[in-house]
Amino acid sequence: MPDSRAVVYRTRLTTRFRGLDARDGVLLRGDAGWGEFSPFWDYDDAESAAWLRAAREAADDGWPAPVRDRVPVNVTVPAVGPDRARGLVAASGGCRTAKVKVAQRGPDGALEPLDAEVARLEAVRDALGPGGRVRVDANGAWDPDEALRRLPHLDRAAGGLEYVEQPCPDVAGLAAVRRGQGGDTAVPVAADESIRRAEDPLAVVRADAADVVVLKVQPLGGVRACLDLAEQVRLPVVVSSALESSVGIAAGVALAAALPALPYACGLATVNLFAADVVAEPLVPVDGALPVARPAPSAAALAATAPDADTDRRWRARLDRVAGLALAGGAR
Ligand SMILES: [Mg+2]
Repeated sequence: MPDSRAVVYRTRLTTRFRGLDARDGVLLRGDAGWGEFSPFWDYDDAESAAWLRAAREAADDGWPAPVRDRVPVNVTVPAVGPDRARGLVAASGGCRTAKVKVAQRGPDGALEPLDAEVARLEAVRDALGPGGRVRVDANGAWDPDEALRRLPHLDRAAGGLEYVEQPCPDVAGLAAVRRGQGGDTAVPVAADESIRRAEDPLAVVRADAADVVVLKVQPLGGVRACLDLAEQVRLPVVVSSALESSVGIAAGVALAAALPALPYACGLATVNLFAADVVAEPLVPVDGALPVARPAPSAAALAATAPDADTDRRWRARLDRVAGLALAGGAR
């Protein structure tokens, strides 16, 4: 066990994700264990304050008691061809739910053609079999008309979608997609970006714009903050990762394990995107679920994820700035 109370990690990603080839962050050790502070680099210091609150909660306070001992998780299928999509589902550690990325834009800025999305969804349904569940995530890239045009085709190709995540960028768009679909073929709408990057996460609820909400522990300021929010929104919750190491994933698992109800598989099976992890036994799915566990970093794993000097310097400086902001009370 290393002595330092702040350890920077960096690893290559096995698949390019969110435009990233590598992932890095700081692990903080406190009396309750390890926490992860890893806001993406496009988050400014003020927005990163919530991420630090989540890390400090993990390190200093620990988490509420779990009500379940395993958390079903989904495999994530990026905008790949059907063969690769089938392979990802097959290699997912038994996941029975797939989240398929749609509405991806090419280098020319054009949306992926509908027939490519349809082929990917058909392959995923085929790989999961009839008992599996399929959802799509558009990351807010459609306008309501585009969403309403594509969804019936995607729903059919998937053999029924459990929901569409963030079809449009704003709350009004989500509400329009909910209202605009016809009757009993309607695909439920999940809000992700509209919750975690919003000034007011409850705007989604007031506008009746979602059937499901996606909660992420770091951007929302910790496990307790997410449990409070879940109680206020009174909608089913899906817990997702912010592409963290197993230390950060453990906080998501703690949230999913403490929620009174967990009707959907969670988006916490992302550690296998890391070429190396900070713990000896990474939180990867077995039989489609993660154990409710909290693995601690090992010296060997930390050596394998040691950063270059510049990355180390940048994270320590960022941590100091964001911590200073919290002390000054200047962060929301
Ligand atoms: Mg999403």
